[in-house]
Amino acid sequence: MSVPLYQLPEQQPSVWQPTSVAEAMRMKHKWGDDSVLIAGGTWLRTRWENGLSPLPQHLISLGNIPSLSGLTVDSLGHIHIGPALCLADLMKNELVRQRCGLLVQACSEIAAPSVRNLASIGGNVMSRTGDLIPVLLVMDAQIICSDGQNERSLALAEWLESPISSQNEVMTGIVVPTAAPLKEESKYEFYLKVGRREAFTPSVVTVAGRLSLGKDGTLTSIAIAAGGGSAVPARFKDQEAAAIGQSLSKELLKYLHKGVFAEFDAVADDYAGVTYRKQTAANLIVSECYKAWQKGGGADAPRS
Ligand SMILES: Cc1cc2nc3c(=O)[nH]c(=O)nc-3n(C[C@H](O)[C@H](O)[C@H](O)COP(=O)(O)OP(=O)(O)OC[C@H]3O[C@@H](n4cnc5c(N)ncnc54)[C@H](O)[C@@H]3O)c2cc1C
Repeated sequence: MSVPLYQLPEQQPSVWQPTSVAEAMRMKHKWGDDSVLIAGGTWLRTRWENGLSPLPQHLISLGNIPSLSGLTVDSLGHIHIGPALCLADLMKNELVRQRCGLLVQACSEIAAPSVRNLASIGGNVMSRTGDLIPVLLVMDAQIICSDGQNERSLALAEWLESPISSQNEVMTGIVVPTAAPLKEESKYEFYLKVGRREAFTPSVVTVAGRLSLGKDGTLTSIAIAAGGGSAVPARFKDQEAAAIGQSLSKELLKYLHKGVFAEFDAVADDYAGVTYRKQTAANLIVSECYKAWQKGGGADAPRS
């Protein structure tokens, strides 16, 4: 790791290995801003190296807290993912592969294998701009956090609006509902990441979606989200609500395009402006909805 000299703390940082969430929070409270919770450290490292935040004196590793790296399924079929689980292990897990194909795809497009061996799902979400967030949003994921004593659970979308601060809470779980679709429904899912090159690239725009169509081609459910760059990913709730119960049609696709373009809170950087990102998000989402229409849109579906 190379951190600019002026960023280095007075002594080399100490790495602490708490074995429980309560112990980690006690350490955090003791050292405050002079400490940071760390999972894989891949996101934090780039910030330190680029001088975006100072390397603190105390690194509180979450790697020795067994409950943060587990993966279980409950009686409702919801998968409980430990936030410290690294992306490589998540991608290898058979249950995740069977039920969360989109999540596996999104993980496979993050960085390179060496980074994925360290990078955690929790760290990705805590960054508030990670590529896994659009997928978790369309899967209706819940976040569980703890202050060291009590746990609380809230929808990821709600958490993104008022994120926990790792000063006060540890993320202790990510819960992904994975109920099977109704028999008479056709289900479509998509995840697309647009970067500045084909692979190993930060995202300019990332979109995810899940749609279910009834036999007659009406939308029985739709969840669409966009993120990318420094944008905080979000769902397009108004457009989703208006689309439910309708058949996919040219008019509906135009409506979705207009809505995504208007609502996507894109952020410009040196590589791409706001308009480009909005246009790209709207084009990607609508082209995927068009494909769903072609495949399962009933008698009125376009044939090519
Ligand atoms: C070369 C490279 C390429 C990358 N490419 C991508 C990419 O394509 N897409 C992408 O999304 N990201 C990318 N990243 C960023 C990063 O690797 C991922 O976001 C990763 O998932 C972050 O996880 P981490 O465990 O390393 O987080 P860390 O760096 O350990 O932590 C990130 C933040 O989360 C906090 N934190 C972590 N876990 C918890 C917890 N359980 N409770 C409370 N706070 C917590 C930390 O305090 C910190 O603020 C890349 C990074 C590198 C170095």
